[in-house]
Amino acid sequence: MLGAVEAGGTKFVCAVGDEKGKIIDTIKIPTTVPEETMSMVIEFFKQYDIESIGIGSFGPIDVNHESETYGYITSTPKLAWRNYPFVQALEESFGVPVGFNTDVNAAALGEAVLGAAKGLDSCLYITVGTGIGAGAVVNGKLLQGLSHPEMGHIIVRRHPEDTYNGKCPYHADCLEGLASGPAIEERWGKKGVSLIKRNEVWDLEGYYIAQALMQYILILSPKKIILGGGVMNQTQVFTSIYKYLPELLKDYVTMPELSSYIVSPGLGDRAGITGSLLLANQALTEKE
Ligand code: ADP
Ligand code: ZN
Repeated sequence: MLGAVEAGGTKFVCAVGDEKGKIIDTIKIPTTVPEETMSMVIEFFKQYDIESIGIGSFGPIDVNHESETYGYITSTPKLAWRNYPFVQALEESFGVPVGFNTDVNAAALGEAVLGAAKGLDSCLYITVGTGIGAGAVVNGKLLQGLSHPEMGHIIVRRHPEDTYNGKCPYHADCLEGLASGPAIEERWGKKGVSLIKRNEVWDLEGYYIAQALMQYILILSPKKIILGGGVMNQTQVFTSIYKYLPELLKDYVTMPELSSYIVSPGLGDRAGITGSLLLANQALTEKE
């Protein structure tokens, strides 16, 4: 029995299950302060005899095993969670191996092993929601360097008619600043769900995401691209991406049929929690 935590900015999802992604029990817990949220997480897992735990967390987080603050959430704007020793808290409570990665890396792993990229040794998973983040699987492994990638904060070319400042607290008009859910809401004055019929909203969204995808494709050459997160519920964005991406790439790279190359998550909204189960399984295997 494996434990999994998908730690998000608004809620935590916990699950127990197996390495095939089968979930036996699950619970949703609001993200408040660590004392409160984590005591509910621990209470949930105490009901089961778990062998290891996998965490897919909001970040930034410290995933460098050599670092003194490995296992911590680091510079998050959510102050109560800043410098929180996430891995250590669960290790102390359960005495089992704990796998730790970003929420998007967990989702990328889930999609690579059991979802839309099953059978492939590379893929890119991108979430477009409250923030924009991505995880890459390269040669069958999650891509990691100095730290985890932060692909949501790349620079994109601004649309000539877009005068919106940008929402990223660090860079203003990076990709996340121009194309996240909150950026859509601030630019157009309404939440995404209330803008469904406004074609220009989703056309512009695809305009920016296509640019990001061009760069990811040129650098990583993933075998499949999976786009999840709340904003991607607007399937018009896929249509816009399929229009703009060929205009940008200009036949320089031979692309597969875009509608089967750039897709929704095969695991739906379970990509993150399934990937966290796989992280738990990896932590267990590494220990053995
Ligand atoms: P989070 O990123 O916090 O995990 P989501 O992926 O659901 O959660 O992203 C939330 C953002 O996505 C919000 O800005 C919200 O307005 C937007 N969003 C959620 N659902 C939709 C939808 N159906 N259409 C357009 N935008 C949506
Ligand atoms: Zn940014």
